Amino acid sequence: MRIKIMKKYTIKINIDWCKGCELCVAFCPNNVLQIGDDRKAEAIREEDCTGCLVCEYKCPDFSITVIKIDK
Ligand code: SF4
Ligand code: SF4
Repeated sequence: MRIKIMKKYTIKINIDWCKGCELCVAFCPNNVLQIGDDRKAEAIREEDCTGCLVCEYKCPDFSITVIKIDK
């Protein structure tokens, strides 16, 4: 039996606004985010996102939008 993990949320990051401060990475309770080689935030584990919106609230540059995926 194969179990497929369905994403419930997708994370959009405006890399033009992101300054790589790492606040979103530090505050995400589920380690969804990291800072990439380009020093911008990126979502690496969207399947673990619970939609808590902490990253959106904490980003000082309004760079993150958490979007619920409708099935
Ligand atoms: S919404 Fe919550 S769980 Fe999802 S990436 Fe943002 S801080 Fe992490
Ligand atoms: S908190 Fe905002 S500006 Fe800071 S790394 Fe995350 S997305 Fe970029």
